[in-house]
Amino acid sequence: MKIIVANWKMNGTKQDKNAMISAIREIQTDNKVILCLPFTLLCGDNSGVLIGAQDVSANENGAFTGDISAQMLKDSGVKYVIVGHSERRLYHNETNTIVKSKAIMAQKHGVTPIVCIGETFEEYQSGNKESFIEKMLLESIPDSSNFIVAYEPRWAIGTGLTPNVAEITKIREVIKSLLIKKGYTDVAVLYGGSVNDLNAQQIINDSKMDGLLIGGASLKVDTFLPIIKKAN
Ligand code: PEP
Repeated sequence: MKIIVANWKMNGTKQDKNAMISAIREIQTDNKVILCLPFTLLCGDNSGVLIGAQDVSANENGAFTGDISAQMLKDSGVKYVIVGHSERRLYHNETNTIVKSKAIMAQKHGVTPIVCIGETFEEYQSGNKESFIEKMLLESIPDSSNFIVAYEPRWAIGTGLTPNVAEITKIREVIKSLLIKKGYTDVAVLYGGSVNDLNAQQIINDSKMDGLLIGGASLKVDTFLPIIKKAN
């Protein structure tokens, strides 16, 4: 069983969502499929899939115009939330400290955080990306288990570029061993960044990742379903 997370970012209408959910209901898969949708699409008939959000407030409730609380997500049937996506870190100045607070708040309300980490291209080229990843991981994850880690190199998101499978495998080992040292033996580690129906099978099989986080290729039934079917 692999975990396949779709990140729709700021895309999608009710019609798109209904078409995707109907298509997913019709396939046979052992994989766990999580659709991380824009806030406007979280409610409705979501039977047959698990629903996630793409952000959550680090605050409990109150005067935070435009924000959504973990309690509200829980109330809407949301089971997962992406925290610390590189686009949030980049465009909303989210630091590791903020990401960790969001993850803790999500856990408090029974919503599982999917904590994103990943190096920039400069960090990748520095030859020392492991230490950037280790620091980001240790500073971003919550203090108790029941979370997922998504390793997403920033330079691979939406670019068509990916690290090679040996590099993904190496980072997986770095992340897993740090998690194990902290006592988190059951935390799943996903890969994300320019995964499509052509490279998904090789990435997931050869790197032994627990799953994939898919952006662009998750928006259309024709490109997303083959990924769900091939990942095993
Ligand atoms: C993402 O947004 O997390 C992502 C992995 O995007 P893409 O698959 O389009 O690179």
